[in-house]
Amino acid sequence: MSRVYNFCSGPAALPEAVLKKAQAEMLDWHGAGVSVMEMSHRSTEFMSILASAKARLMRLLDISDDYEVLFVQGGASTLFAQIPANLTNGFDSACYLDTGAWSTKAIKEAKKYTKVNVVASSKEQNYTTVPAFADLELDESAAYLHVCPNETIGGLEFADLPETNLPIIADLSSTILSRKIDVSKYGMIYAGAQKNVGPAGVVICIIRKDLLARCSDSLPTVWNFANLAANDSMINTPPTFAIYLADLVFEWLEEQGGVEAIEAVNIAKAKVLYDFIDASDFYANPIDPAYRSRMNVPFTLADASLESLFLEESEAAGLRTLAGHRSVGGMRASIYNAMPMAGIEALIQFMREFENRHAQ
Ligand code: PLP
Repeated sequence: MSRVYNFCSGPAALPEAVLKKAQAEMLDWHGAGVSVMEMSHRSTEFMSILASAKARLMRLLDISDDYEVLFVQGGASTLFAQIPANLTNGFDSACYLDTGAWSTKAIKEAKKYTKVNVVASSKEQNYTTVPAFADLELDESAAYLHVCPNETIGGLEFADLPETNLPIIADLSSTILSRKIDVSKYGMIYAGAQKNVGPAGVVICIIRKDLLARCSDSLPTVWNFANLAANDSMINTPPTFAIYLADLVFEWLEEQGGVEAIEAVNIAKAKVLYDFIDASDFYANPIDPAYRSRMNVPFTLADASLESLFLEESEAAGLRTLAGHRSVGGMRASIYNAMPMAGIEALIQFMREFENRHAQ
């Protein structure tokens, strides 16, 4: 068996060391005689895994006690509805910044619960840039401001946040733990696990405790953030295996030197790939250089008729899942924390050879 370089946007590559550890523990976790998948979520063994995952995440992101860490089910898409359902109680509206496909989906769901005020949009620029924060039409009486700082499909990322007194709620699904962030600037952070955290099935939520007072008793029991917090994310059976894998990924990240260390690697990885694309007339990336994603690198070929050949040959060369999202086409290399520099180098080598063979 040989592993390939997997550029899938999610579920994405996991660190090999994590998979090996999970494999070694699969039949008998730490002498329990069963795997994590087979043990009660109320057992002391699983409770220790949950506590470890939470503690490691708090250390990695330097999360203060003002915040609750929750492990939520249903994917980040469920949170698109769950957030307005929980956090607009007592408010007339919520503000949303529209920077791409995932912002758009979040807005669509929020409209089912509240009046949505889209404070700015880069739709007219085909989402190749981020609206100037100075021009945002923020309503400071709204429930919150929602942003998606890394648009996985478009390959657009921004690090700064708008100036506002509103709690900022951020979908960090495809950038969490890839760069240093100041958690205290957010009201809530959420992230589907299947990119930088672990397998699909769990969403990491970091929510400022004061916001929990907004959650109404009329919400479905398992949707209520305050209930989840009060029950340590275990109102019902949580996605135990996904949480266990997340703990192993957090452990791996600590061994790499933490978020700051992996961020340096991510900067270097993204730089060599964008530099190569920019130096070529055969490949192009459409995003404003100030907002290029370090995690998701879309690119087009000068001759679009070569796309399927590119995909076929790259797959055969051990470079998996380079197709862009079905809604935008082209190519996309997702290069999350688990992608080593060697994977980027192999991709560039393939791209160079492909260009040499096909450039006019
Ligand atoms: N938000 C972002 C930024 C994403 O990239 C994705 C999925 O790729 C989602 C939300 C939706 O996640 P899920 O499929 O877990 O609902």
